[in-house]
Amino acid sequence: MTLFSRAVTAVTAAAPVERLITGSRAGRALASRFVAGDDLASGAEVATGLATEGLKVSLDLLGEEVHDVEGANRAVEGYLQVLDVIGSNRLDANISVKLTQLGLAIREEMARSAIDRLAERAAEVGTTVTIDMEDSRYTEATVDIYADAQSRHGNLGVCLQAYLFRTPSDLERLEGLGGHIRLCKGAYREPPTVAFQSRHEVDAAFRRLLMVLMRSPSTRPAIATHDPEMIRLALALAEERDAGFEFQMLYGVRPAEQRRLAAAGHDVRVYVPFGSSWYPYLTRRLAERPSNLGFFLRALVSVAERT
Ligand code: FAD
Repeated sequence: MTLFSRAVTAVTAAAPVERLITGSRAGRALASRFVAGDDLASGAEVATGLATEGLKVSLDLLGEEVHDVEGANRAVEGYLQVLDVIGSNRLDANISVKLTQLGLAIREEMARSAIDRLAERAAEVGTTVTIDMEDSRYTEATVDIYADAQSRHGNLGVCLQAYLFRTPSDLERLEGLGGHIRLCKGAYREPPTVAFQSRHEVDAAFRRLLMVLMRSPSTRPAIATHDPEMIRLALALAEERDAGFEFQMLYGVRPAEQRRLAAAGHDVRVYVPFGSSWYPYLTRRLAERPSNLGFFLRALVSVAERT
């Protein structure tokens, strides 16, 4: 994480800042750039629109760090509904889930059985489940739960973060399981004991992992980046690849590039978050890019001037 990202992460973690952003029109306007809407209908509408442009979708019911059993159960039921909608509307979509939303921070067993239920329902509607990767307190459990579920169900994928020192060995462990592996740079603030800190080191790690992933015959690589340099490298590596792969990008980020790659015949999946718990997701997007934060500050000033 750069100094800028660290500063933004520290500021947005403060409760008054959260209240200001979630309670202001400017904050909600900014969230709407990255979030499809508050409910499943909005997520499904965006997914349908993207499909008409040749884009696949991964639907994310926003939520993380759930510490009550009812909340975790509600998230599982919510995702089962998402899968029903994917099935009944024949959407070219899968789901992305966070294990702490499904109870991992309460009891590991809760997240394991939730993943079983979601993988079974996903199989019934002919789709897959991708497990997002959260901060490094949860990496070991996430890798274990994915490996176990994928070896039994066969329709899962997991995200691996290039900035973590451990990722090359996780990739080696997981690549034989035949799922899809989403490679991203990593969005959380991690200590120097577990993760690369400079952009230069993270990019170098991403390049090394991308080469391994694109040469893996049994895994479907999902290349999750908006970085033109990494996209160029992936396209070069794709020349020598016989099996499939896809690009993944976030809803609201480089939409023209998403369409350009799809028009060139590549599989592109857009990660579409929806739901009311959008604050932590938004803070990660703000920390990634100074211009996102600038947009928010300008919107805030214009609201203040009008009131
Ligand atoms: P960066 O390193 O942020 O930027 C590199 C370059 O890309 C920039 O210099 C610019 O040229 C271009 N660029 C980037 N953003 C923009 C923009 N908004 N507009 C124009 N150009 C831009 N992280 C996790 O930790 N766990 C996850 O499970 C996870 N899942 C993800 C799923 C998807 C589909 C995606 C796309 C990302 C996910 N991430 C996840 C976030 C990821 O780790 C990065 O934080 C995020 O994608 C930013 O890194 P980057 O590779 O896109 O480019």
